[in-house]
Amino acid sequence: MKPTRHTLILAGAGHAHLVAMRGWIDNGFRPPEGTILLSPSSHAWYSGMMPGLVAGRFTEEECAIELAPLCDACGVELLTGEIGELKATSRELVLVDGRILQYDYLSLNVGSIPPQPELNDGSINVAPAKPFGAFNKYWQTWREQNDSMQLAVLGGGAAAFELTLALHKSLPQAHVSLICSGDLLDGYSPGLRKRAIKILHERGLKLRKDTRINCIANGWLMCDEKQIQKANALVVATGAAPQPWQASSGLDCDSKGFVRVGANLQSESYPEVLASGDCASQPGTPHSGVYAVRQGGALSDIIPALLAGKTLREYQPQSRSLALLATADGSALLNYDGWSAGGRIFGMWKDYLDLSFMRRHRL
Ligand SMILES: Cc1cc2nc3c(=O)[nH]c(=O)nc-3n(C[C@H](O)[C@H](O)[C@H](O)COP(=O)(O)OP(=O)(O)OC[C@H]3O[C@@H](n4cnc5c(N)ncnc54)[C@H](O)[C@@H]3O)c2cc1C
Repeated sequence: MKPTRHTLILAGAGHAHLVAMRGWIDNGFRPPEGTILLSPSSHAWYSGMMPGLVAGRFTEEECAIELAPLCDACGVELLTGEIGELKATSRELVLVDGRILQYDYLSLNVGSIPPQPELNDGSINVAPAKPFGAFNKYWQTWREQNDSMQLAVLGGGAAAFELTLALHKSLPQAHVSLICSGDLLDGYSPGLRKRAIKILHERGLKLRKDTRINCIANGWLMCDEKQIQKANALVVATGAAPQPWQASSGLDCDSKGFVRVGANLQSESYPEVLASGDCASQPGTPHSGVYAVRQGGALSDIIPALLAGKTLREYQPQSRSLALLATADGSALLNYDGWSAGGRIFGMWKDYLDLSFMRRHRL
């Protein structure tokens, strides 16, 4: 297959690229002719609203952004496809269907996937929380079956907590439990953790802490050969692992395989490559949607400057960020700088922020 050549490829329709493209519409920048946004699907899911979708508070349409109108409005061509291999030395992307794309400049915003138990005999239905499209299909099937399945959620962060509550709400017949390898919501304030545990308790949801599930065998979730819990299905919301092809791309990556970038989001080894959001490794920047969105704002200035050979703006990660954790009933828990609170007003605030993001990027 003959390779196609592009001055600029935006790979992945992650939060950062959506924000950058929206920024170009506002500031009038037009990317070079032939610039493409490469995405496996024609729409992008907004992660902050996914637990709300599962809780039955939002529809699929409300949680997804159609990419074609956004691309049209800023002069970018939408190309459906998925990277299977990145060859940094020859500046090539090999897609899973064999197509080859060559680039002068590449911006990566391909997100992450949750790490799964190392051993799995296939006896339990495993649904990674990402990619959202695939997760949504699992959830739809469980909803249609509406049976008394044993459903475990793996993970100790905000996404696992929110999904546990949402699944409990939408699958009333299922027995839902949450299993984390350490403490629940480690890194959040003690007050928030107390509130979260109280909610799980009030809703009759079992929480198992300090349990690292590393094997699935004969329908059991296992920790170091010890049978922990029987399950029919497992939702994996264990945080971020990189796309497998990143580590073999030739780009300088950290020990986990995330692309190392400097303050201007440039790869430390190939300056024509930028990386943002979960796929990047930048000191002081956690893998979270909030930070991906902020990087997107910087990216909307960095890409035009890179193409013009100008000095690149730097992105400084904020030292603190606000967290609002949806509790599947229209309320939310708030965490900021060691302080916590909870209630309906915070749920309304979260909805306002999420829906504002959607309004701004859905054209
Ligand atoms: C259930 C859940 C709820 C969450 N809620 C929040 C929240 O409320 N607040 C928060 O800050 N964070 C939240 N997160 C974390 C958040 O989802 C991520 O940190 C955020 O999505 C990262 O954004 P990104 O820009 O890196 O890319 P993403 O938004 O993850 O998008 C990556 C894009 O890359 C595409 N892609 C993937 N592989 C390829 C490939 N091989 N080739 C081409 N394209 C590819 C995908 O299709 C996708 O469009 C949540 C996570 C989960 C699982």
